[in-house]
Amino acid sequence: MRKTLITLAMLTMMAGVAGTGAQTPSTPPAGQPGSGGRQGGRGGRGGVAIEPGQECPPGMTEWRANNCRAPELPPPSIVDYRPKSTLVTAEHLVPKAKYGAVDYHAHIANMLTSQESLAAFVKQLDGIGVRVSVSADNLSGERLQRALDVVRASPYKDRVRILTGINFQGVGTPGWAQKVVAQLEADVRAGAVGVGEVMKGFGLTIKKADGSRLKIDDPELDPVWDACARLNLPVFIHTADPPEFFNPCDSHSERWLELALFPERRWMNGAYPTIEELFTERDHLFRTHPKTKFIAAHLGWHGNDLGRLGRMFDQMPNVSAELGAVLYDLGRQPRAAREFFIKYQDRLIFGKDTFEPSEFPYYWRVFETADEYFDYYRNYHAFWKLYGLDLPDPVLKKIYYQNAVRVTPGLPQAGWPK
Ligand SMILES: [Zn+2]
Repeated sequence: MRKTLITLAMLTMMAGVAGTGAQTPSTPPAGQPGSGGRQGGRGGRGGVAIEPGQECPPGMTEWRANNCRAPELPPPSIVDYRPKSTLVTAEHLVPKAKYGAVDYHAHIANMLTSQESLAAFVKQLDGIGVRVSVSADNLSGERLQRALDVVRASPYKDRVRILTGINFQGVGTPGWAQKVVAQLEADVRAGAVGVGEVMKGFGLTIKKADGSRLKIDDPELDPVWDACARLNLPVFIHTADPPEFFNPCDSHSERWLELALFPERRWMNGAYPTIEELFTERDHLFRTHPKTKFIAAHLGWHGNDLGRLGRMFDQMPNVSAELGAVLYDLGRQPRAAREFFIKYQDRLIFGKDTFEPSEFPYYWRVFETADEYFDYYRNYHAFWKLYGLDLPDPVLKKIYYQNAVRVTPGLPQAGWPK
């Protein structure tokens, strides 16, 4: 048994030094951080021995096998720690997609309100190489009609398509499904090309008329999914959230910063279903409606487990997946992700989610180049760097537009590169 070389009282004192950010005295008394130095030897003065597999106490790091020490300098908080890479290597920035892309996941309703806003928006699309933007804003009825009127009166008819939405309020009241199906039919006649984005509240927070949670595979919804199949409307659906949003927000969380920034993304307090309950309900929905085309937003939140998503694709031919806001998971596993993209090249559809033109080039760079260890645009998604997948051209064409156009007959079908 290794003996602990430091007392608890000393440990508390050291944690205090690290935590308050106080400067370490230039000649610290023996036993304080900085006093161990080279003469410390194994375990060293100022070190704390731990058992194999045990973690260091707070404020300390494992500087030698099974021995922990506090940094001599006050550590920056993780919010402030932004190391600059010293790596010098090839860089290939990609401001525009190689082939005009469909962005299947765009929240752009406020761009579709006037000729001026639409023209400004299309100019931004031109700058990043997006040919068609799909409004995933659940526009229905009058709002849908107003947006369609703006697009149709413009010179940009083929630059925007619009998805309608399902109103999930009141499931369980008599006639709910008939009313929703009638609205879907009207919205399709008006010009909607699909349904979505079905938001994550479906499964997590939306209640039925009787106050119970509306489960994703609730049979009362069956007539609506059947209508989507009959009307040939793909259903773009966001289920659950990244796995870390269901886990404790502690120093082991990959998304600690995001969870600390956004309290409304914490689903772990027992008031919500577990992520596996949601995935089980979703998969049951997908399996029991094989004629309905589903597009799982954000890779179904399986970007961290592509094998699982591959098994879903194998078992559910009616399912595709969209690539929005999961670039951090693809760019950290470039070899496995490349293999996955090649194997499932007919099932993946580009989408971005938040419309911020400056962020699209990160996607193009990950998909199109073999660049290594480059920055991502959002610290709270990922504290790591990205690598390019170097996808072959035929795969790029499929994920950029061919798959979207195939599953969505209402998208412009002509004028794409062969
Ligand atoms: Zn979205």
